Amino acid sequence: MDRNDVMKAWATFFRGHKPLLSIELTKECPLRCPGCYAYDPNHLDGVTLLRDLADFKGDQLVERVLAKVDELAPLHLSIVGGDPLVRYRELILLVPLLLERGIYVQIVTSAFRPIPARWKGLANFKLVVSIDGLPAEHDCRRSPATYERILRNIAGHDITVHCTVTSQMMQRIGYIEEFLSFWQQRPEAAQIWMSIFTPQRGSMDKEILTRTERELLVRELLRLRPTISKLDMSSDMIKAFLSPPRSPGECMFSQVTETLSADLSTRITPCQFGGDPDCSQCGCAASVGLHSIAHRTFVGVSVHKLFDISNVVVKGIRHFKRMVA
Ligand code: SF4
Ligand code: SF4
Repeated sequence: MDRNDVMKAWATFFRGHKPLLSIELTKECPLRCPGCYAYDPNHLDGVTLLRDLADFKGDQLVERVLAKVDELAPLHLSIVGGDPLVRYRELILLVPLLLERGIYVQIVTSAFRPIPARWKGLANFKLVVSIDGLPAEHDCRRSPATYERILRNIAGHDITVHCTVTSQMMQRIGYIEEFLSFWQQRPEAAQIWMSIFTPQRGSMDKEILTRTERELLVRELLRLRPTISKLDMSSDMIKAFLSPPRSPGECMFSQVTETLSADLSTRITPCQFGGDPDCSQCGCAASVGLHSIAHRTFVGVSVHKLFDISNVVVKGIRHFKRMVA
């Protein structure tokens, strides 16, 4: 994120809109990944499960997503799931209409089905494929989106590989290097992003990295960064894994992102994980990335302070409008 991006995001925020929007396009997913937060009982309000929500299909989905985007006016839209490719017919219609509106569009998928050919080479468009480790571990966690299927389905495309590192991956010396080297050599991989499994508070998931494993991962990523040119993470961003925001209130990502579930009205708070995420163990690449720039100075104040001040001003303007209405 450069100065222009920060200023555009700030201008949007100042107009009362969050610059980033994330939509769970569907409640459906053919995968059953262990530790998936989307289907966690606490992901929404602790009562309703994602699979119980009403979601939309066909023209109704296309029209409702466009209406929501026009209402919220984001700069960046992340389309997640479930798996958004379950609704690939609707996405084929939606993507050009969203791009026409000047929005940067990102689709996050397991690539369990072929990526539509018409998405090749689109500007302001990113296809992020979740690939959690090398085939032995990934195929076991993310079947039917196995390596064999992913490699077939992404052929000819430029994708961003997104890996969520789990404790199991940190048990074997050299695992991260092997993973990064594999994707560094694949022509379909344009970039690689690494996240760390983020637990809910008090949970004991096997995927949670110990502090020692987290430190080891950071050392590995910093060591490998000069040779793995596709690893699209700055040193500051990697180091930020060691000091994530302490709470949602300190998390710039959660403050600037609106996240909606599959009925397009249920808000997911405090961030895309929903429920009661353990910020002190956050491993979200987007969150730590924003956290790492939050203290940089633009127009004389830190980015974090800029958004904090704007938040107060925007709330004051809303309050004033209610008073005079
Ligand atoms: S692909 Fe994503 S939404 Fe589907 S089960 Fe796996 S983690 Fe959950
Ligand atoms: S993205 Fe991470 S730091 Fe931000 S609110 Fe969610 S868990 Fe906490």
